[in-house]
Amino acid sequence: MMTVTYQVKDSIYVNLTNRCPCSCTFCLRHNGPGVFGSDSLWLEREPALDEVLESLGKWDYGRFREVVFCGYGEPTERLDVLLAAAEHLKKGDPSLRVRVNTNGLSDLINGKPTAKLFSGRVDCLSISLNTDDPAEYLAVCRPKFGEAAYPAMLEFAKEAATVVPDVVMTVVGEPVTSAAKQARCRAIAEGLGARLRVRPYEEGK
Ligand code: SF4
Repeated sequence: MMTVTYQVKDSIYVNLTNRCPCSCTFCLRHNGPGVFGSDSLWLEREPALDEVLESLGKWDYGRFREVVFCGYGEPTERLDVLLAAAEHLKKGDPSLRVRVNTNGLSDLINGKPTAKLFSGRVDCLSISLNTDDPAEYLAVCRPKFGEAAYPAMLEFAKEAATVVPDVVMTVVGEPVTSAAKQARCRAIAEGLGARLRVRPYEEGK
């Protein structure tokens, strides 16, 4: 059975796609289909908008803290479905918190500026910054867009911070990211109008 929405603690997660323009060395997707058993998040096909809305409709949102678009893929690969589903959720309950976990490469994926489209639809964008070093980003995230990816991700974050209430840029904590590097990443995030979140090493994406 295809898992489109699922519960993680007090949140509902939405799985729109397994596609991603990156191939991060640490990505769980490298484990491939089946590794998570019958509840695998590896989609046999991408759900249509009506399937996403139907799956979202089965939860009682009074019991949950937020809805998170994440999955084992990059949700902005399906930007139209993502925005329509987020809009549907916010129309149904404006107080419901909607977050998108993204690699920040939506502009390159979709071939146009996209950050402003999140306005009013999303409360939090969590963007993987990963590093302050563009060369290291290229080596670790291996984006298909090459050197254009890192600056595009920063630009997306900066634009998003003008319209989305909470823009968070993330790095993995020590030993992956030293305290000095974390400080440099924090300066980058705050310079863009975002905040830095240091994820625990074990936590994954
Ligand atoms: S951006 Fe996320 S989904 Fe894409 S390869 Fe990296 S960790 Fe995996």
